[in-house]
Amino acid sequence: MLTQSPRTLHMKVLLAHCVCKTDSAAGRVLRELGEQLVQNDIEILTATTTFDAVALIRSEPLIQALLLDWELEEDKEHRAAMRVLAALRNRNRNLPVFLFTDRENAAHIPLTVLRQANDFIWLFEDTADFIAGRIVAAVRAYRRQMLPPMFGALARFSQVHEYSWHTPGHTGGTAFMKSPSGRAFFDFFGENIFRSDLSISVGELGSLLDHSGPIGKGEAYAARVFGADRTYYVTNGSSTSNRVILMASVTRNQAALCDRNCHKSIEHAITMSGAIPTYLLPSRNHYGLIGPIPPHRLTPEAVQRAMRDNPLNSSSGDAHPIHAIVTNSTYDGLCYNVKRVEKLLGQSVDRLHFDEAWYGYARFNPMYHDRFAMHDIPDGEKSSGPTVFATQSTHKLLAAFSQASMIHVRDGRNPIDHARFNEAFMMHASTSPNYAIIASNDVSASMMEGAGGRALTEESIREAVAFRCLIARINAELAEQGQWFVNVW
Ligand SMILES: *Cc1c(COP(=O)(O)O)cnc(C)c1O
Repeated sequence: MLTQSPRTLHMKVLLAHCVCKTDSAAGRVLRELGEQLVQNDIEILTATTTFDAVALIRSEPLIQALLLDWELEEDKEHRAAMRVLAALRNRNRNLPVFLFTDRENAAHIPLTVLRQANDFIWLFEDTADFIAGRIVAAVRAYRRQMLPPMFGALARFSQVHEYSWHTPGHTGGTAFMKSPSGRAFFDFFGENIFRSDLSISVGELGSLLDHSGPIGKGEAYAARVFGADRTYYVTNGSSTSNRVILMASVTRNQAALCDRNCHKSIEHAITMSGAIPTYLLPSRNHYGLIGPIPPHRLTPEAVQRAMRDNPLNSSSGDAHPIHAIVTNSTYDGLCYNVKRVEKLLGQSVDRLHFDEAWYGYARFNPMYHDRFAMHDIPDGEKSSGPTVFATQSTHKLLAAFSQASMIHVRDGRNPIDHARFNEAFMMHASTSPNYAIIASNDVSASMMEGAGGRALTEESIREAVAFRCLIARINAELAEQGQWFVNVW
């Protein structure tokens, strides 16, 4: 038996203090405080410099409170402490922060810092026991709000309910224990994946098909994070998300405008719905890279011409397109000015569908401002603009299990109400969705919420730029020697 269940998350606090390793009076009190925290199963990471503290904040997501010396590095200007605080708040706005100071110094702490800290620690006034109690309470409160709705409910449920009386028939993994290969399988993935593999008949977690209970709460939470009116968690990839949208939006012999470089699932969805596609041709440069559909092909006149020239359309030519699909970003990573697409294509169709399978991160970095489907929009403009759909493969460029996908909807002109849309959703969903995939959608949303999304995308962009610089430098150096090497575009 393990002494600590692998289902419990470890607790760590970061102690950033000059004297935590010395033998001064403060050092002794800090050690006493440390012992109290350890008794509460809290591990303490210590840092005596800004550099160490910031490195730990970046690398250790299990830190659940920061205990910060206002005079870190004995800096009377407090720049060191402020740098640590800023590094934390750039990534996480909810983590509890305690400032070590005395009453005299506290009076001079600037308002901006007070706003970012949660509490003070008066090291020589309160007992270690009392201070530890406050820290433990803050850590517990932080942990309670940290998990998103569906994953939080799933984690709690898997701890409370020992036996499974529903499908899947492996009943919490126990069926695998009866043969050598089954046991190897169980040990390979570990207990939790089986214990949390549940049936739609587990009422406590709600239903993906009804969008009820914690699953429905998770979808509402993701809608807030991704800027949608409604979000649907999908467990069969964006291939299914695309089919759901098209089946809900168009029917036999209706006209749809379709990016010529769309995903196969769009073609399938059009085949199934019986709609008639008119293709819009994207640009392609001399390297073969796929760019966007140029604006001059998105105007009402150009759309009318494409409709007229399309042999699939009847000769009477009175067909009016309802739905348009655009791949954003393109397969080679080029993205659209979505507001402009809405303005241009919105003159021809009421419903715009952005296939953002590779683009779920866009909302979280200002670099992509207005270049993704669920960009911010004043409420007044919503009803006059087209209804907008986005499909995102959470598993592609966010962190989630394979097949995790989301549909985001923003209602505008000619919206599809939830009840009707959900018929198409159910037509393509299994009645036995995988709960680990649903939970991974939920966790993906929570990773991108608030400061986290900005910090994570910023890191990736910096790494990508550094990588390009490196390739370009190698290319240039080898070119000087008359040799060839790949280059970046
Ligand atoms: C991958 C992809 C899809 C399908 O997504 P899955 O999650 O793999 O089903 C849809 N559209 C585009 C543009 C894609 O690249």
